[in-house]
Amino acid sequence: MSDCLFCKIAAGEIPANKIYEDDNVLAFYDIAPQAPVHFLVIPKKHLADLSEIAGDIGNTVTAANCLETCADLAKQLGLGSYRVVSNIGAEAGQSVFHLHFHVLGGRELGRIAG
Ligand code: AMP
Repeated sequence: MSDCLFCKIAAGEIPANKIYEDDNVLAFYDIAPQAPVHFLVIPKKHLADLSEIAGDIGNTVTAANCLETCADLAKQLGLGSYRVVSNIGAEAGQSVFHLHFHVLGGRELGRIAG
């Protein structure tokens, strides 16, 4: 999508502090970290949020690849305990409307209060 920030990062048009990349998935550090370790995992394909998985097997596999990448990178970065979050919709705090999973760790995380 031409006006999507994370599509531009995935295409290499905007720089990011990349951790991992393959044909389908990209991981990079969040520009405004909320924890000592805070990175984002995105599909390269533009999906606005998790609701766009929509029963499509290709999209489901892509989302699973993202989650596998979250777990693999958390392990590589030495996180024994961490949180994976995906905000869906502005009221949930979503500000970039390209599916992404936050991985946060490196400190004690509070309970999710809502
Ligand atoms: P969300 O609010 O759940 O949509 O998360 C979007 C995240 O993207 C926020 O945590 C931002 O700090 C992060 N972010 C925005 N722009 C960039 C960027 N250029 N590089 C890395 N992270 C970014």
